[in-house]
Amino acid sequence: MANEAVATAFVGVGSNLDGPERRVRLALDALDGLPRTRVVRHSRLYRTAPWGRSEQPDFVNAVAEVSTALAPRALLDALLALELAQGRLRDGTRWGPRTLDLDLVAYDAVRLVEPGLTVPHPRIAERAFVLLPLAEIAPDFDIPGVGRVRDLAAAVGEQGCRALD
Ligand code: ATP
Ligand code: CA
Ligand code: CA
Repeated sequence: MANEAVATAFVGVGSNLDGPERRVRLALDALDGLPRTRVVRHSRLYRTAPWGRSEQPDFVNAVAEVSTALAPRALLDALLALELAQGRLRDGTRWGPRTLDLDLVAYDAVRLVEPGLTVPHPRIAERAFVLLPLAEIAPDFDIPGVGRVRDLAAAVGEQGCRALD
């Protein structure tokens, strides 16, 4: 990535099917393998009671900080391609079980709303499974238009979200 403009982005990783811990670890490796992108650090893995729909297995979640020369849309496209590569099927069920979910949580100080891409991710402020791992790696990050990670994490509480081990 020499001489390229790089941005700091945060990616939320989640799985609750087919060996979720292994899938999250594989996804963290895969993120590091994306073009013009590397994982700078990532949180521990967290186990979380399912959100939105309760009749499904627990989720395993983590958040990665990536340094990337990809623009937000290109990064999102790469994330969606990784989901497909790990066998995710989209059946139209929102918040249903999935082998892999990769969300672009935030991208530098960028705020944008386009068809198919909203940054920062619009539902961060209410989600312990994003905020707790994010607070582990970037407590002082100011999510544009939302607030400082450590304050948001304190406000949201644990919601049954616990670090593994
Ligand atoms: P949620 O977005 O509430 O976490 P979800 O992750 O289950 O729900 P998906 O079915 O994975 O939702 O994604 C639906 C669409 O959301 C994606 O196809 C993508 O175009 C769009 N999207 C918009 N903003 C983002 C973002 N910041 N990160 C990831 N996807 C986004
Ligand atoms: Ca999601
Ligand atoms: Ca998603």
